[in-house]
Formats: sequence, C-alpha cells, structure tokens
Amino acid sequence: MLAPVLEKLLILQDRDAKRLGLEAQLKAVPRDIAAVEGKIAGEKAAIETARMELRELESHKKIIETEIGSAEGKLAKYRTQQSLVRKNEEFKALGHEIETTQGAIGEWEGKELEVMYKIDEAKKKFAAAEAVLKANIAGHEARIRTLQEREASLGAELKGAQAEVMTARSPLAEPELKLYDRIATKGLPACVPIRGGKCGGCHLKVSSEVESAARGKTSDGKLATCDQCGRLVYWES
Ligand SMILES: [Zn+2]
Repeated sequence: MLAPVLEKLLILQDRDAKRLGLEAQLKAVPRDIAAVEGKIAGEKAAIETARMELRELESHKKIIETEIGSAEGKLAKYRTQQSLVRKNEEFKALGHEIETTQGAIGEWEGKELEVMYKIDEAKKKFAAAEAVLKANIAGHEARIRTLQEREASLGAELKGAQAEVMTARSPLAEPELKLYDRIATKGLPACVPIRGGKCGGCHLKVSSEVESAARGKTSDGKLATCDQCGRLVYWES
C-alpha cells in the first residue's frame, strides 16, 4: 500500500503537471497571434510596395508627357519660324532642329509606351496583392479571435489549476514540500515508481537500501529518493 504522504505527493504532482501544461499552452498563444499578425502585415506590405511602384511609374509617365508636350511646342515654333525665314541657310538650320526634335519626340513616345506597359503590370500586381489580403483577412481575423478566446479560457483554467495545486499542497508538511519542490523544479515527474528494481525516472537500478526505504521497510519512515537522479521513489505493488 502506498504511504499516505506519497499519495498526497502524487496528487500534487498530477495537478502540477496539469498547471505546467496549461502554462505552456498559454505561453504559446501570444506567439501564435504574432505569427498571424505577421502574415497580415506581410500581405499589407506587398500591397503597399505595389502601390508605391504604381505611383512612381505614373509620375514617370507624367514627366515623359511633359517632355513630349514641350518638344511638340518647340516643333511648332520651329515650323512657324521656318515658314518665315528667307535665307536658305536659316531654313536648313531650322529643318535640322525640326528633325532632331521629332527624333526626340519619337524616343520619348517609345519610353512612354514602355512605362504604360509597366503600369499595366504594376496594376495587375497591385490587384493581386489586394486580392490575397482580401481573401485571407477574414481567416486571419477569425484565427486571432479564436486565439484570444483560447487565451482567456486557458487563463481561467490555469487559475483553477493553480488553486487545485494549492489545495493539494496544504495537507503536506514543509520538509516534504521542500523536497518535492527541489526535485520538481528540475522537471516532472518528481515522484516515480520503482519497477523491476529500477527507478521510473532515470531507469537505473536503485540500491537495496533505497528499495527497502521505498517499500516502507525502514524504521525512520523517511521518503526514499533514487541514488542516481534524486527523484522521490515509491514501491508500486
Ligand atoms: Zn532515478
């Protein structure tokens, strides 16, 4: 039969394990929420990048249009001048200016087409990025809500588990608690059965003294601990 103190220690250990499990789950929630928020931020950033790209291309297009406009103004001016000059040399010189300006306009128009093509691409990219966020945002938000609800329920559950731990500690004496706590801080289980002469924690053979103590066959009634790992050991009949 298990000594009453060990029965109490096993109850405490059980409740401590539950408390630790809840604490670990609770600790994971903010990380999970941050991961979802990170996804949202990433999708928003993709939209923002596409928006900036589009804006830059549009302002580039405006610059090109201004250049074309001013070149066309020059062209008209040269043509008027050419119609007024009398000297052949002046006529020729203006003809050269007209040609050069026409060439420049052609080049600008080529660039304008290129930019227009890029604008089309950027618009598609922007729409695609927006669609990704739109498609995912409801799911992201639902996930965050679920995680927040989970955090709240885990918090409540943990409070209950902590209270149960306190209840389990109350019937135990100070030295027993101290010993248990010292072992438990290194990790549960702190109380393990001896099976086949081996410690249930480290699986190494315990000495016959320890085994006798665990069987309750020693007179001092002290709690038995494993020679190897220091865990509290008990005899499981
Ligand atoms: Zn051991």
